[in-house]
Amino acid sequence: MQDVERVIVLGTGPGGLTAAIYLARAQLRPLVLDGATPGGQLMITSEVENFPGFPEGITGPELMERVRTQAERFGTRFMYGRVTLADLRQKPMRLDLESGEQLRCQALIISTGATARWLGLPSETALRGSGVSACATCDGFFFQGKHVVVVGGGDTAMEDALYLTHFASRVTVVHRRSELRASRYMAAKAKEHEKIDFVWDAVVAEIKDVEAKHVTGVVLRNVKSGERSELPCDGVFVAIGHQPNTRCFVGQLEMDPSGYLITRGKTTRTSLEGVFAAGDVADLRYRQAITAAGTGCMAAIDAERYLGGEPWNE
Ligand code: NAP
Repeated sequence: MQDVERVIVLGTGPGGLTAAIYLARAQLRPLVLDGATPGGQLMITSEVENFPGFPEGITGPELMERVRTQAERFGTRFMYGRVTLADLRQKPMRLDLESGEQLRCQALIISTGATARWLGLPSETALRGSGVSACATCDGFFFQGKHVVVVGGGDTAMEDALYLTHFASRVTVVHRRSELRASRYMAAKAKEHEKIDFVWDAVVAEIKDVEAKHVTGVVLRNVKSGERSELPCDGVFVAIGHQPNTRCFVGQLEMDPSGYLITRGKTTRTSLEGVFAAGDVADLRYRQAITAAGTGCMAAIDAERYLGGEPWNE
């Protein structure tokens, strides 16, 4: 059993790393755990053009590298570790890691982000990595001159569709309604693009061809008529939103029906004393790098005040 840490931060996306910068500068020597995706979702984002301070834009990985260096500069300690079980009710709190190691801490900042959701089709699972992807920026390059399908109608789907036009000869967006959820700007940009077309009111019922071990097309089902049709294509990009990474806290922390952590008022306090949430794990609405960084800063200040004796229920 290790010593009790003053504060542990889970996650190294913009939320976790910004929290680390603030905690380290406050002399709290935070221990930060890299989870399954060090750097978070920005590591699979190509160009970031809306993060203040980078007028020419910056790549996601470069931005995260810089923030990490900044956190290290003030004494942040990093270790790899995935939490499998947590007891947040006892004080100090206890975290069990996949490695068998156990950590204890007085305060905890959860910034574990959210993971891309899948359709849940057996053919999707079978062809994942063989033409089926949830990351256009990671895999778009492999579809030079090909026809790809993007599933979803939100900003991610539009962003992916636009990004894929750099490689693919044709991009078909399949959306289950006749209206996009995406912001007006992103929707207009996608609709205007000559390489992008749309199939409305349709869901992907099956991806072909599992036997051939690569994608040859999708079976579409019209949600209004129930009619099925086949659309030949070479790749499928699933962009239907994200699932917050909160499974190991179920039953301990208050969550909304989708599993997002609930915070109190304008603070980052969760339902349990000493536990704070930052970034996408508690944010269904904005989910931007800059908002994650902002709540990371808030969580660090909230944790610092808590450790300094500020009453929890004030
Ligand atoms: P989202 O806004 O939740 O959109 C998910 C889309 O997938 C919706 O159109 C939804 O359909 C569809 N969908 C969900 N489950 C489905 C299923 N099982 N089968 C078929 N379609 C399904 O998620 P997101 O696009 O990832 O965006 C999340 C947040 O991040 C948003 O706030 C967005 O603005 C933000 N974001 C911003 C940017 C940017 O500003 N550059 C880029 C990416 C994301 P319905 O419309 O019918 O619900």
